[in-house]
Amino acid sequence: PLVQEPPKIHRLDESVVNRIAAGEVIQRPVSAVKELVENSLDAGSTSVNVVVKDGGLKLIQVSDDGHGIRFEDLPILCERHTTSKLSKFEDLQSIQSMGFRGEALASMTYVGHVTVTTITKGQLHGYRVSYRDGVMEHEPKACAAVKGTQIMIENLFYNMTARRKTLQNSADDYPKIVDLLSRFAIHHTNVSFSCRKHGAARPDIHSVATASRLDAIRSVYGVSVARNLMSIEVSDDDPSSSVFKMDGFISNSNYIAKKITMVLFINGTCAYSIDVVELTGRLVECSALKRAIEIVYTATLPKASKPFIYMSVVLPPEHVDVNVHPTKREVSLLNQEIIIEKVQSAVESKLRNSNESRTFQEQV
Ligand code: ADP
Ligand code: MG
Repeated sequence: PLVQEPPKIHRLDESVVNRIAAGEVIQRPVSAVKELVENSLDAGSTSVNVVVKDGGLKLIQVSDDGHGIRFEDLPILCERHTTSKLSKFEDLQSIQSMGFRGEALASMTYVGHVTVTTITKGQLHGYRVSYRDGVMEHEPKACAAVKGTQIMIENLFYNMTARRKTLQNSADDYPKIVDLLSRFAIHHTNVSFSCRKHGAARPDIHSVATASRLDAIRSVYGVSVARNLMSIEVSDDDPSSSVFKMDGFISNSNYIAKKITMVLFINGTCAYSIDVVELTGRLVECSALKRAIEIVYTATLPKASKPFIYMSVVLPPEHVDVNVHPTKREVSLLNQEIIIEKVQSAVESKLRNSNESRTFQEQV
């Protein structure tokens, strides 16, 4: 057989490396929205407003009223691995913010055109600056600004022809973006969220800050969902099995839906791809929890209705490995099997009780 000459190995240009990495962090418009909204929440915002044009390919704009960004930080804001949230590797163990890698904004500048407008407390004016491939395109310009930060991504994937074509040919991301913001809105009840299509008169989501989770669910998912929910709580503080707390709402036997809605937060981070698996085709670790709950519903309820589930699981930060995947889509939990078992049996007993009282009512 012919012996081929081995191809020469060379080092990739940094710009190529960065664009490839960026395409992994920002897989589609909804992933950019998730990163931007998480940044707004990390910045302590009480109001987050999203505008989307052309499914996010033309424009994604996220405005918040958070702490803003210092003028002197603007030059490195969109460089890779620049962050205000992490300094030492050990900090990962106790990280409270959703971000920490300092890759999201940088990534966006490698696959789109990013413009940042921001003002910090006590300043008379804000600054606006645009970025390309990690660097500022010009010096920041003074401008009028209200409290907080506005980040605009235009022409996402303009330099990734195949990705853009695929996205243009598939259903656009707007429904996924609305779905994602609905999840954020019912978890962060102290923050008001809105989401609208560019040029639309009415927003598709408009949640107001409220003290009651049920009110938030009602305002986002509607009365018919909210009136068929039961609250649920489980906790375990036995270090020899598992340490966690879960609280949430699950649908009762009157709730009817063709599709499961599972809104899961783990230590405050939205494990959203559980429903949005088609994003990457990869399953998140906690799909095991979703499956476990579905099994209980099918076994307990006579009609095979799909449930609505909101759950917030809190466990010691050192029990969650958030470092598994750059998009933070996969988390792995210590003692996951035990946690799932406990949640599953709590759901089962809630469901049995509600089903029995319903049967009883029907008989009366
Ligand atoms: P990370 O969130 O992992 O730190 P990002 O690339 O998402 O990385 O953001 C980089 C830094 O920019 C953040 O650490 C934060 O200091 C700042 N930042 C980004 N978005 C905002 C925002 N909306 N408000 C205030 N600061 C922000
Ligand atoms: Mg971030």
